[in-house]
Amino acid sequence: MSDLLIVGGGFAGVWSAAAAARVRGDADLRVTLIAPHDDMVLRPRLHRLDPEWARVPLKRILEPIGVTQVKEEVTGIDVADSTVTAGGRTIRYDRLVLAAGSRLVSAALPGARHMFDIDTTDGVARLNAHLGDRTGFTAVVIGSGFTGLEIATELAARGRVILLERAGVVAPELGPGPRPVIEAALADLGIDVRLGVDVRSVTEQGLVLADGASVPADAVVWTAGMRAHPLTEQIPADRDGLGRLHADRHLRVSDQVFAAGDVAAALADATNQVVQSCQFATPMGKAAGHNAAADLLGLPLVEFTPDPYVTCLDLGAAGAVFTTGWDRTVALTGDQAKDLKQTILEVIHPPVDDAAEILRQSAQQSNEVAG
Ligand SMILES: Cc1cc2nc3c(=O)[nH]c(=O)nc-3n(C[C@H](O)[C@H](O)[C@H](O)COP(=O)(O)OP(=O)(O)OC[C@H]3O[C@@H](n4cnc5c(N)ncnc54)[C@H](O)[C@@H]3O)c2cc1C
Repeated sequence: MSDLLIVGGGFAGVWSAAAAARVRGDADLRVTLIAPHDDMVLRPRLHRLDPEWARVPLKRILEPIGVTQVKEEVTGIDVADSTVTAGGRTIRYDRLVLAAGSRLVSAALPGARHMFDIDTTDGVARLNAHLGDRTGFTAVVIGSGFTGLEIATELAARGRVILLERAGVVAPELGPGPRPVIEAALADLGIDVRLGVDVRSVTEQGLVLADGASVPADAVVWTAGMRAHPLTEQIPADRDGLGRLHADRHLRVSDQVFAAGDVAAALADATNQVVQSCQFATPMGKAAGHNAAADLLGLPLVEFTPDPYVTCLDLGAAGAVFTTGWDRTVALTGDQAKDLKQTILEVIHPPVDDAAEILRQSAQQSNEVAG
């Protein structure tokens, strides 16, 4: 029997497993998914501060399609030996799909332990426990990227929000297209935006800026900087500035190793690299899982062909903004974009307890609704 091992139970890992199970059919191929938790976490739902809404039991996806689930954290990958180490065990593979995702890079600041984040369900639970049912608090959000904007506009419904950005413009990574809509939303919600500022240190009472000014706050939320999982460093292959492994059109990194989702850098079209998003992680997972299984079974490989790039940014009570293309042309705003955001947050939930539907969706690289 051959072994296909998938590391990670997020969008990329789960959809790799489903595609591999579909390609396997009745063949003598064991598909195993290894991840440290019982649940898949739908990270795009985390800014709504409801950790339970973001969890999907992996068992309800994997069991119906005959994928073996191992609950362990992988700590080592030995490509020369074709094994991974997890929980003191050594697990052999014939093909590996690395789908261990990304992590928020913690801030190297004095007092960083006082900060909160919404990168994981544990992070959200800690913030919720701190804020309780309070309203009227002051929260400082550091970073005005996708995550910073979504949590700042969410918290603005309950308290005063100060949004700090090191760059001279808000939302630097989103470009000029959606910026006027974002600026108008931040103004509508009364968010105090401070540009061109650096943080010197954080305390339980707030933070101190690089110029020495104190900013009192009940909570400081750090959102700046995502990197690919450090397991990528154990694969001898080229990586990009985010630590992502360079993968080809089949999402292959080396003879036996494929990569998908936030750990992988691949072309989304003729010129643009994927960005770390569930919009790309899902079709990458489907292609990588398909190809890892097909490669073992001597079947043709498929190319990674995602839908055109779009974004949908939640702006809390000010609606949302939906953009198309790599220049992020605004296509929808306000309530229409908010409705689309809600639809996206719902459709990213994979089918559960329904093998036929899971396998059917694993054959489609199109997200149907992307975000
Ligand atoms: C707050 C927030 C909001 C977001 N909003 C959006 C959005 O609106 N739209 C969008 O497209 N994207 C959004 N993203 C990004 C999106 O969530 C990620 O790009 C996506 O989750 C990547 O999927 P993945 O499967 O590659 O990784 P992940 O979802 O990070 O999953 C990684 C998996 O690997 C497992 N794992 C980690 N370490 C190990 C280990 N050592 N051994 C075994 N398993 C391991 C994890 O437990 C997890 O199961 C958001 C992210 C955050 C944090």
